[in-house]
Amino acid sequence: MTSPITDYLEAVLRDCRDSDGGEVLTGNRILSEADPDVFSVAVVTVEGTVYCAGDVDSSFSIQSISKALTYALALADRGLDAVHRKIDVEPSGDAFNEISLERDTGRPRNALINAGAIAAHSLVEGRDVEHRVDRILALHSAFVGRDLAIDDDVFDAEMESSDRNLALAHMLASVKVLECDAHEVVTGYARQCSIDVTTPDLAMLAATMANGGVHPESGDRVATSAVVRQVLSTMTTCGMYDGTGDWIANVGIPAKSGVSGAIIGVLPGQLGIAVHSPRLDDRGNSVRGVEVFERLSRDMDLHMMDIA
Ligand code: GLN
Repeated sequence: MTSPITDYLEAVLRDCRDSDGGEVLTGNRILSEADPDVFSVAVVTVEGTVYCAGDVDSSFSIQSISKALTYALALADRGLDAVHRKIDVEPSGDAFNEISLERDTGRPRNALINAGAIAAHSLVEGRDVEHRVDRILALHSAFVGRDLAIDDDVFDAEMESSDRNLALAHMLASVKVLECDAHEVVTGYARQCSIDVTTPDLAMLAATMANGGVHPESGDRVATSAVVRQVLSTMTTCGMYDGTGDWIANVGIPAKSGVSGAIIGVLPGQLGIAVHSPRLDDRGNSVRGVEVFERLSRDMDLHMMDIA
């Protein structure tokens, strides 16, 4: 069904489609084969109304966007203070896979870079890798409102290129931030990155965050508002890696990106937004994704510092 908002979203995609800068990720055998031209956007209100345009049925791995909800689960399982003792909440200003650890404690700078995400994964309660991954997958499914699955081909490719994440995990183990086996944690982390999603899934996930942890359609509470607040605060300062300062100044929406080319944005009390386009800038953020968000923010006055 078409609406003025859907027409508007189609027009935004048309305007941004010409922008073909950036490169599809090369370091992962499966991700490097992604169609560079797929392009989609979805917006979901906290009342559960969905608007979308573009290749909305095309699916891709969630990648780093999974860091937000894995952090949420660690916070729910262990409490804010216990997690903070292991993972700081400061922007790193470094690339997402940099060894950004606090000098004295060895704490990763935040939960949204790889070092912090690997630590957060290890803090999720579970008997073993499978149990932890099942719980992380279940939380993603609850935020989206449908049963998600892991793409095993993406997972295999992640494991083939996991040397750097293994190095990060061993480094964290050496300073006792990680208290379990480094290889197991990286395996679990690679599985969470391989959760298969669509753009409307991600917009619904973002809308559940925007709604303070209550799914907009079912009304089910899937996270506490305190946990969501902590996750959104970190997304505001660290969600777009070392491009977060530019992003907050230009777009002004708490966000999280992933190397498959997706970006989610969350406007508390209002909207969840997701865009997918695989070509990335040199920080690992989707080029067209950033453009679409800049456009939506400007056209609809979504910048959080705008006064209504
Ligand atoms: N799986 C990727 C990695 O760990 C995810 C990184 C990302 O999306 N930025 O390197």
